[in-house]
Amino acid sequence: MKTIGFACTSADVPLAPLSFERRAPRANDVVMEILYCGVCHSDLHWAKNDWGWTVFPAIPGHEIIGRVIETGTDVTRYKAGDFVAVGCMVDSCQHCDQCRKGEEQLCREGQTGTYGGFDRFTKEHTLGGYSKHLVVREEFVLRVPDGLDLARAAPLLCAGITTYSPLRTWNVGPGSRVGVIGLGGLGHMAVKLASGMGAHVTVLSRTPDKAKDAHALGANALLVSTDPEAMAKAANGFDLIIDTVPVRHDLNPYMPLLDVDGTLVIVGQLGPVDEPNTVPMVLGRRRIAGSPIGGIRQTQEMLDFCAAKNILPDVEMIRMDEINHAFERMERSDVRYRFVIDMASLSL
Ligand SMILES: [Zn+2]
Ligand SMILES: [Zn+2]
Repeated sequence: MKTIGFACTSADVPLAPLSFERRAPRANDVVMEILYCGVCHSDLHWAKNDWGWTVFPAIPGHEIIGRVIETGTDVTRYKAGDFVAVGCMVDSCQHCDQCRKGEEQLCREGQTGTYGGFDRFTKEHTLGGYSKHLVVREEFVLRVPDGLDLARAAPLLCAGITTYSPLRTWNVGPGSRVGVIGLGGLGHMAVKLASGMGAHVTVLSRTPDKAKDAHALGANALLVSTDPEAMAKAANGFDLIIDTVPVRHDLNPYMPLLDVDGTLVIVGQLGPVDEPNTVPMVLGRRRIAGSPIGGIRQTQEMLDFCAAKNILPDVEMIRMDEINHAFERMERSDVRYRFVIDMASLSL
């Protein structure tokens, strides 16, 4: 089917409209009109070829809310008119041990990215949600629960599940002591989700000026990580610290904050961090871990949890043709806390 998107044709030119074809739906495919798409930091990295493996033309976008317009003959879970969502992956092998456990994000054969992946049948390069339509197999389509604000929900599909998943892996609940480093798209969701689970949440920040924002998001406290006295007082006070910082940084100041068996989990930076000192890890039985998105089952659980608790990202709505300016602002962390593209602003 003919559709339109906003694509980059090389790393050094702005995104611009591109007409292209989505595949004809297979028997198990859902065809959707995209209503909203969140703007993730990965989109920017992908468009600028920061990881060195972007295939051009590239269409980013993996925080997708849409409406079903057509379904393949074998589709049983969705019908035209349903509000649905798609996150960071659109396929996996479906038969390995991880897929069978519902952890498709950890598929032994590699999951297929919503953009930057390759269709498992046609080998075509996948193109993401900065577009008018999307065709995805039923198993990778999420249901948007009734009552969830469609315009604000999109960032749950990456920022939401990326922070929800480690909170579940490490069994966060009432009484858990959770720290969050970085108050951007991921960090602000970590605060909302952890506090929705009943945890005591502390934002760790280099300066005290984010205290008001942290409290407004539901945090119980702000700890200034450059204040040695406050940091010493907070030692052994955390069960889990979610580190959302998306660039190289030093983990060492945070390790003594963890209690015995406490974990610092990295969800932001893909790449090196400063050399870790093993002393607090070995002597305090503390851990450094990493975590990607969650599986489809857990992503649905997260959407249902957010609907039940009325947890939504704080977003700034933009038109599709404002994306290049939004990228510039995102590079300066000038957004509270996620841009969402209103796809009604893009017409065929
Ligand atoms: Zn993302
Ligand atoms: Zn698999």
